Amino acid sequence: MSSVPGSSASGRQRIVVLSGPSGSGKTTIVHRLLKDSPAPLRMSVSATTRPMRKGEVDGRDYYFLPPEEFERRRQAGEFLEWAEVHKSGFWYGTLWSEVDRAREAGAWPLLEVDVQGALNVMARYPDAVSIFLMTPSVDEYEQRLRGRGTEDDAVIQRRLQTAREELKLADCYRYRVINDDLDRAVAEICGLLADEAKQTCTTS
Ligand code: 5GP
Repeated sequence: MSSVPGSSASGRQRIVVLSGPSGSGKTTIVHRLLKDSPAPLRMSVSATTRPMRKGEVDGRDYYFLPPEEFERRRQAGEFLEWAEVHKSGFWYGTLWSEVDRAREAGAWPLLEVDVQGALNVMARYPDAVSIFLMTPSVDEYEQRLRGRGTEDDAVIQRRLQTAREELKLADCYRYRVINDDLDRAVAEICGLLADEAKQTCTTS
């Protein structure tokens, strides 16, 4: 691990930030990108204080931390960014160690973070490849959220409200991709990553 967080960065490796409202299909897209991307992506596993869901694995889906441990690490400067997501009372953050690990392996760290986190990463890394994933309409977000069946109504309402607020910030991202069709959206993202990889090779 590098002594200065992020210092293992080379000009040839970009940070990829993917955001989008809950139910916009981020998780599925992420899995596809990790397989198909023309740029060498590596997932950054976030830390969170939210409880583990059924089927999740500590260290694979998230590092599940007690709030005190999250706070201790935050104060110790271990996070590139952090945020309380969806006004849920739970904290989420990107660990420098994850970013450094990807870069040391020659890969581009892929961060799946909320809008607040993404804006903080973009402020620090203006050349980040930021992608905002959208579903065609707020009604469709709602249908997807309900279809997932993992959250109760109050949580869904809160997430829809966050979704409406997040949509207003979509313009801050370098790219906006509509997930109307999974294969098409993955192909579009692969195309833009290929372009970014080409530019990265020629400018560094
Ligand atoms: P979930 O609790 O459903 O796994 O994730 C809720 C939201 O937290 C997701 O929409 C995701 O974008 C966001 N999130 C996950 N990891 C991070 C992180 O490290 N930082 C920030 N800012 N948001 C995150």
